[in-house]
Amino acid sequence: MPLQPTELSYIINELAEDREHYFNAVAPPIVQTSNFVFKKVADLRKAFEDEMGGYLYSRGLNPTVDILRKKLAALDGAEDCLVFNNGAAAIFAAVLANVKSGDHIISVRNPYTWAQRTFDVILSRFGITTTYVDGRDIKNFEAARQPNTTFIYLESPNSWTFELQPIKQVAALAKQHNIITLIDNSYCTPLYQRPIEMGIDLAMQTATKYIGGHSDTLGGVLSGSHQQMKKIFDREYLNVGSGIQPFNAWLLIRGLRTLPARLQRITNTTREVIQFLKSHPRIDQVIFPLDESFSQYALAKEQMSGACGLITFTIKDGTMESITKFCESLKHFMMAVSWGGHESLILPKCAGIQPADFDANNIQHQYIRLYTGLEEPQYLVNDLQQALNRE
Ligand SMILES: *Cc1c(COP(=O)(O)O)cnc(C)c1O
Repeated sequence: MPLQPTELSYIINELAEDREHYFNAVAPPIVQTSNFVFKKVADLRKAFEDEMGGYLYSRGLNPTVDILRKKLAALDGAEDCLVFNNGAAAIFAAVLANVKSGDHIISVRNPYTWAQRTFDVILSRFGITTTYVDGRDIKNFEAARQPNTTFIYLESPNSWTFELQPIKQVAALAKQHNIITLIDNSYCTPLYQRPIEMGIDLAMQTATKYIGGHSDTLGGVLSGSHQQMKKIFDREYLNVGSGIQPFNAWLLIRGLRTLPARLQRITNTTREVIQFLKSHPRIDQVIFPLDESFSQYALAKEQMSGACGLITFTIKDGTMESITKFCESLKHFMMAVSWGGHESLILPKCAGIQPADFDANNIQHQYIRLYTGLEEPQYLVNDLQQALNRE
């Protein structure tokens, strides 16, 4: 169930804000402090015993960060949440906290780069193995399961081909075998998909993208049960020291105020841009999860209440040269990684491929990913048109 609009407005504008305690200011203070003062030894002792129970030191809890935490947990429909300095840190802490030497992980194939590196480069050194599966079919999870499988890693949709997993089915399978599940929900945000309601244990999203919304800060969100959050806080969060700092948390609170309005606008613009792309003779494929042509359209409609921003497409006769020329001809789309900000972006897959390795017969090498930001739709369409019209 998507959040009710009234509930969403309450979470964004009021929840966790205690304005009477800070001069009735509308915007909360940035509590830019490293440490907190105690008058009684007994109180200090209590803080040492349970650092998640109060303010001791800003590597742990901080009041500005707490406002953000409470809002983000409510958006996810979770008991609690931790906010990290970036999304990759949230993934790393969540996985690390839930596996031990000898365990086995099932991950969707081609997960976010730094998730894959966590599995392949770091955890592999400690005797933790990972099997990558085509996550579109629940049978592949069942087939990959081993007696020592303790963690399932999902990303639905992913941010290039938008492949989905049947979330409820995977969650049910995992529960049956005491396996912890995590989903990277960055594409949808909790406004368009609420995995905790579908039975997933840990919902992760990068806050760098839509929540920040202005390409000026990083952040990562991890939501789940109190028990999971406390476990992760007491170990990985405090020990690695990758918690978000007060000023960045404040920027994310600011970003949240306009999140629904921005997503709405981006959703409409994305629709117009897709329409244009599909009508242009030089465009071959257009991939978008809520387009009727998408191979998992029915599942997308069932699990997601919206989609926006990212579109992947190919141009006919997509060679390294033609793709390069097209991308470099754009005047308003900026060529950059990331997405979710005010500015529209373009990212060709071939930028990550050495020219000698480019395979013109491999459609994936030809992918171009576009992100539609907050500009006027016509401004973007005109830019695409002029770049496509240059042969
Ligand atoms: C950007 C991104 C992340 C990581 O977020 P950072 O804040 O950049 O660390 C994770 N998953 C997906 C799908 C992303 O696009």
